[in-house]
Amino acid sequence: TDCGQAMFNDVGVIGVTRRTDDGTVERGFRVFIAGGLGTTPHPALALEDFTPRTELLPTIEACLRVFDQAGNRDNKLRARMKWLVDTLGFEEVQRRVLTQRKFLVASTSWPGGIPAEVQIDGDDPAGAGDPATVTAVGHGTPVTIGTGSAYERWERINVVRGVRDGTVSVYAQAHLGDITGDQFRALAALQRELDADVRLTNRQNVVFRGLHPDDLATVYDRLDAIGMARPGAELARDVVACPGSDTCNLAVTQSRGLGGAIGERLEEEGLADVGGLRINISGCPNSCGQHHASDIGFFGAERRAHGRSAPGYQMLLGGYVGQQQMHFGDKALRLPARNAPEATARVIRRFIDERQASEGFRDWMERAGGARAVAEGLKDLDEFPAYEDDPSFYVDFDETGPYTVETGASECAT
Ligand code: SF4
Repeated sequence: TDCGQAMFNDVGVIGVTRRTDDGTVERGFRVFIAGGLGTTPHPALALEDFTPRTELLPTIEACLRVFDQAGNRDNKLRARMKWLVDTLGFEEVQRRVLTQRKFLVASTSWPGGIPAEVQIDGDDPAGAGDPATVTAVGHGTPVTIGTGSAYERWERINVVRGVRDGTVSVYAQAHLGDITGDQFRALAALQRELDADVRLTNRQNVVFRGLHPDDLATVYDRLDAIGMARPGAELARDVVACPGSDTCNLAVTQSRGLGGAIGERLEEEGLADVGGLRINISGCPNSCGQHHASDIGFFGAERRAHGRSAPGYQMLLGGYVGQQQMHFGDKALRLPARNAPEATARVIRRFIDERQASEGFRDWMERAGGARAVAEGLKDLDEFPAYEDDPSFYVDFDETGPYTVETGASECAT
């Protein structure tokens, strides 16, 4: 499922296998380069079909060296591999990387082989034993939350079982990616007690890994006590938003406010438990909220209506990770911010009404005629009432005063 997001970063790595001439299966990697989001998204491209394990590190170092030699170091907005490919062309960047790798591997100072750390710790996958059905690349995991006690629902959705070594992983859901100081202290205490491995997910949750199944009841009670055991981590209710105008100098909208409003709307409509569907929001086109990469994406844009500024969003539909390449979401339509929750609910309702068994969002969307065709059913939402009739359309989510855009210098290169 490309949880590591290899297909839209400067250098990304996905584990793959190949069958050798003698019939054995060799594990290795496919290295992708020059991906990126932002206002000009580029899907990462595969450097070669298969990179053996012994060549992974020299390949990554060769990418860094080529970027160091030829990348744009003067303008931070262009300091990405995707702009190097834009300037030199993919074939030339690929040629330079593979040439650099040859020199690296041939140099007397290159240690070669597989790093000692990997040999000591091993690198067998914990999750994919022979009986396991591996999730296909490209879509969220289609799960059904179903009924049952709160614990049963949590266990069904927020717990992932590693097939090979019998360990379990648990998602602690952080609403809109927020964790309070008290929650952090409680998570740290739990981590120390269980000696667990902890990671942050790119959907803004916390995962405890390598747990024993007997620990689950304790973990549930402890997470429940701090409000982080809501079933549904990584389902539709688990909206991802960038900081937006809460804290970002470049923001034009309150992306977190919209994230909260969409989550509430889906709860009210009984749509929050839909699985296999991701919603991401950015407060401007720079895409820190990764709106290009999700099934339903929004980025903030200032609108003018009835002589006033108003918060608005561009809606994108159908972003997904393909087998070989990232496919970014297609533009559907622009909307007033206030109508984005209704648009989201309508699209999800239509998706669950029309989808065929195990059909993913993108496949359904294409069968429905594409993003523009789906947007036809939302056109009535692209209307701003006069300020006197409904002033809320001219105030952003989580704000109290009239909408204004005040941007400043950026800290990040996007
Ligand atoms: S620059 Fe990034 S964090 Fe800031 S509003 Fe835009 S997308 Fe969000």
